[in-house]
Amino acid sequence: MPIIVQKFGGTSVATTDKILSAARKAIKAQQEGHQVIMVVSAMGKNTDALVSLAHELMQRPPAREMDMLLATGEQVSVALTAMAIMSLGHKAVSLTGAQIGIRTDNVFGKARIISISTDRMQKLLDDENIVIAAGFQGIDEEFNITTLGRGGSDTTAVSLAAVLGASCEIYTDVDGVYTADPRVVKTARKVSHTSYDEMLEMASLGAGIMHSRSIEFAKKYSVPVHVRSSQEDTAGTIISTVSEDPTRGVSGAAVTMDEARITLTGVPDKPGSSNAIFSSIAHANITVDMIVQNAGVDGLSNISFTVPSAELTHTLEAVQPVVETLGIQQLTHRDNASKISVVGIGMAEQSGVSDRMFRALGEHGINIHMITTSQIKISVLVDRDQALEAINAVHQTFELDRVYPDAVPAESPQATPATDPAAAANELQGMEELAITDISLDSSQASVSILGVTDQPGIAATIFEKVARENIIVDMIIQSYIDDSDIANLSFTVDRNDVDRTVAVIQGIQDQVPLQKVVSNPTVAKLSVSGIGLRSHTGVAIRMFQSLAEAGLNIEMINTSEVRVNVVVDESQGQAGLEALNKAFADVIQSAG
Ligand code: ASP
Ligand code: MG
Repeated sequence: MPIIVQKFGGTSVATTDKILSAARKAIKAQQEGHQVIMVVSAMGKNTDALVSLAHELMQRPPAREMDMLLATGEQVSVALTAMAIMSLGHKAVSLTGAQIGIRTDNVFGKARIISISTDRMQKLLDDENIVIAAGFQGIDEEFNITTLGRGGSDTTAVSLAAVLGASCEIYTDVDGVYTADPRVVKTARKVSHTSYDEMLEMASLGAGIMHSRSIEFAKKYSVPVHVRSSQEDTAGTIISTVSEDPTRGVSGAAVTMDEARITLTGVPDKPGSSNAIFSSIAHANITVDMIVQNAGVDGLSNISFTVPSAELTHTLEAVQPVVETLGIQQLTHRDNASKISVVGIGMAEQSGVSDRMFRALGEHGINIHMITTSQIKISVLVDRDQALEAINAVHQTFELDRVYPDAVPAESPQATPATDPAAAANELQGMEELAITDISLDSSQASVSILGVTDQPGIAATIFEKVARENIIVDMIIQSYIDDSDIANLSFTVDRNDVDRTVAVIQGIQDQVPLQKVVSNPTVAKLSVSGIGLRSHTGVAIRMFQSLAEAGLNIEMINTSEVRVNVVVDESQGQAGLEALNKAFADVIQSAG
C-alpha cells in the first residue's frame, strides 16, 4: 500500500477545529488507499510563546533545556491530533521524535538527523493506524531531546517520506508556490510546478514556504513534495525535478528587504586575502549572503558582500581586525539595501535574461549597486526605498503573471517507493552532511572588467544589451560599487574566442557609458564548487578560499549563490586549483546521480 506523509504546520493545527480538519484530510487519504503518517508542528505560535517564557527567566537559556522545552509544543499537538482522529472513529497513535527513532547529533537547537528507524511506524501502519509523528524533534545518543532548528517539522516530514519511499504533502496557510510574494506583487500567480533547484535558490529569499534543509533532503532523495492549502481542497504546487514552463528563462522573482552591504576597497590582491576576511566572519557565526570580488588592478581588488541588516554591527566587529592586518585601504558600509533576485532553470539555456532585468530596472530609474549571477539566478542590490518598485518592474518585464498557452505541461513525478526501507534508512546515515555534487574547472573563458563605470541607472542594461546584440554569451557577471565615488566596477566572463570582440564593443560605447578603463584577461580558469546546503553549511566558501590560499592561488573574481560558489583565477593556476579543491572536499564529495 502506498504511504503518504502529510505535514501540518502551526497555523494548520492552531485550534482544535483546525486539528479536526487536518484529521479529516488524513482519514480521507487512508480511505483512498494510503497508509498515512501525519507530521505536526506546535499549535499556532506556541513555540514562540515557549521561547518568550524561557527569556523571562534567562537571557541565554542553555540549549539543552531550550530543546527540552520547545519539544513540548509538538508533543501537545500530536496527542490532540491522535484524539481528533479517534473522535472521528479511526485508529491513531501519536509518537514523539524519540519514539519514531529519529536519532540526531547533540547540537541542541539545530541538531542534524543521523538515522531514522522505520520498524515501529511500519508496524503501526500495517495495523491500520494513522501515525502522528511529532515534527522538529529527535533524540541524541544519550537520550537527550534535541530539536532540528526553527521550522524543522518540514525536515521531519521529508526525511520520513525519504526513508519510507512515501509521497509528501505539506499543508500550510498558503496554497502553493507563487511567482513572487503576493503581498508584495499583486499580480503574482501560483505555479503548478517548481524545481528543487529553483526552490533552493529562492529559499533564503523570503519565499519562506519551506525550511531549506527540507528541500535539500527532498532533492537528495528525489521526494516530490506537494505544497498545498490546509483550508481549501485545491491543488497546490509540486516541487520536483521539473519546472512549470521550461521554455521560460525566469520563473520567479523575490526580494529580501533588509540587507546591509560592506565594501572593502584596496584589498591586497594576493593569496589568502578572501580567506582571512571570510573566515573571521564565519567564526563569528554570521552567514554572508552575496559575495562579489572584481578582478584586481594594480595589485588591489575590491570585495563587497552583504549580510542581514541585523548582523551588520556584529560583522563590522569581526572584519575590523582583518582590515588592519591585511592593510585594506577602506571599509565602508551601508544599511539601506535590498536584494532583488530572479530565478529560472530555463535561464541556463537562454541568453538575454540579465539585460532584460537590468533594462527594466533602468527604465524605472533604479540604480543597481551590486550584481551577482549563478546559472539559474541573477541577484542585484538596490536602494531599499526602491525595492518594491524594483520587484514589481521585474515581475512585469518577464510577464510572470501570465501562463503561456504553448507551455509544455509539466508531468508530476510519483514517489519511488523504497524497495528496502531498512536499506534506505541506513542510507540516511549522514544524509545531513554537506553534499558537494561537483567540483569543476572551466578553461574556456576570458574575463573582462570595466573599471570606473559611472554608476547610474541603465548602465548595466546598455552594456549587456550591446554585448548580447553581438551574440556574445556572458557567463558570470559581477558588479561591485564603491561608496562615495559614484563609480562601479563591472566584471564578467565570456568565451575566450569572444574576448576581443567584447572589448571592442565596450570601447565603442564609451559615449553612452562613461568609464575609466577596460581590462581583460584572455585566459582565465573558473573553478566551481556546487552542492546542496552550501548556505546552511557556511564553511564552504571558507574551505574553498582556504585551500586555494594554501595552494598559493590568487583569486581574481568571486561570486556565490545558494548552490554554487565560483572563483576565477588565472588559467595557469586552474589545474592546481582543481586539485586543491578536490583534496579539500574529498570527505564530502558525492558521485553525481
Ligand atoms: N514548532 C517549530 C517552530 O515553530 C517547528 C516547526 O513549526 O516546523 O519552529
Ligand atoms: Mg512553524
